[in-house]
Amino acid sequence: MTHNEELFSRARKTIPGGGNSPVRALRSVGGAPRCFSRGVGARVWDADDKCYIDYVGSWGPLILGHADADTVSAVQEAAARGLSFGAPTEAEIELAELLVQRVPSMDMVRLVSSGTEATMSAIRLARGFTGRDAIGKVEGCYHGHGDSLLGKAGSGRLTCGNPSSAGVPAELAQHTLVLDYNDAQGLRDAFARHGKTIACVIVEPVAGNMNLIAPKPEFLAAMRELCTRDGAVLIFDEVMTGFRVGPASAQGLYGITPALSPFGKEVGGGMPLGAFGGRREIMEKIAPLGPVYQAGTLSGNPLSVAAGLVTLRKIAAPGFYEALTAKTRALVDGLSAVAKKRGMKFSAQSVGGMFGIYFAATPPTSYAEVMASDKEAFNRFFHAMLDAGVYLAPSAFEAGFVSAAHGDADIAATVAAADAIFAGG
Ligand SMILES: *Cc1c(COP(=O)(O)O)cnc(C)c1O
Repeated sequence: MTHNEELFSRARKTIPGGGNSPVRALRSVGGAPRCFSRGVGARVWDADDKCYIDYVGSWGPLILGHADADTVSAVQEAAARGLSFGAPTEAEIELAELLVQRVPSMDMVRLVSSGTEATMSAIRLARGFTGRDAIGKVEGCYHGHGDSLLGKAGSGRLTCGNPSSAGVPAELAQHTLVLDYNDAQGLRDAFARHGKTIACVIVEPVAGNMNLIAPKPEFLAAMRELCTRDGAVLIFDEVMTGFRVGPASAQGLYGITPALSPFGKEVGGGMPLGAFGGRREIMEKIAPLGPVYQAGTLSGNPLSVAAGLVTLRKIAAPGFYEALTAKTRALVDGLSAVAKKRGMKFSAQSVGGMFGIYFAATPPTSYAEVMASDKEAFNRFFHAMLDAGVYLAPSAFEAGFVSAAHGDADIAATVAAADAIFAGG
């Protein structure tokens, strides 16, 4: 037994599934999860001291790579001044100001401790602001594990959804209209029937939780137009795309302004931090100014804020996104080229510093197309890459991430590893 395997069997005795979040348990691809002991830059080491080039980056936050020296020292300095106060700090005001400056739709922002908290709070706020209960959610998009957001399509597709988790009251899912990604016509139909009762529509502006699906411009534009027409709050869930696809996030990249946006991942630079913000008249409905309750003992935690501030400052360096985008594109172009040479049914694409790889002839544009990709081929590729020292997201339905710490040599080594695997069939 490897040390990883020993740790996994030990973990399963006290932690359900052996991990603190489901995909980590590797059920989708099989095998024992790698238990990591350290990470530096683009690399991580597991319990057997095997080294990997990491394309997960803690699921996105580590845009500067592991253990970025500036981030680590800022967190250490903040820790020495006090771990938490449960009272305002100057640093959290600075972070709020930076977010408001950088995110086009943001007049005001609240800091929380996770992406889930940010999306849950945004939904409650949209409902409180509009006085409506129904929400529109897109199948395959993930918005954290809040009750209202765990709905999937029911048989009466355009009427109401079903819970996608046990423990979620069916009544709650009945307030959820399930929409299809990139289906502008379906959206128009849903609004024609229910528009005036919809509190909000929430969407990942680039879908990153069903592998990566790029938005068709007309899809996001139709959402903006219909929400405006019928008085619904448009929510871009930027927990993953925020500061990952560009300096002004997805809303800046596509030039579409939502009313509210939750953030997470990147804004905490690897520490637990989320944020949600948007239009002033909506944000002023939050307690203590307004009737919508939202609170948090550790909200705006000084360590998380310190990591977030360093990250937001460093990614503002001139050329940061040009370099990150070019490197990520070099990875997907390299993988596509070797797959083509070997006659593999494979495609790949990227948006900013996030990417998708697909065992399908062309990148999917819908949830149904993602589901139709060859999952077994992905699982074999995942394990072969793992053996070759490349750590990809352990599921065919997750996006990948490149950081500023990945060098050209890392990209070349990754493409070479894939070439050798494809050559072997
Ligand atoms: C990760 C993610 C969340 C949930 O964030 P947590 O910090 O895991 O609670 C919500 N929305 C999107 C788009 C995400 O990618």
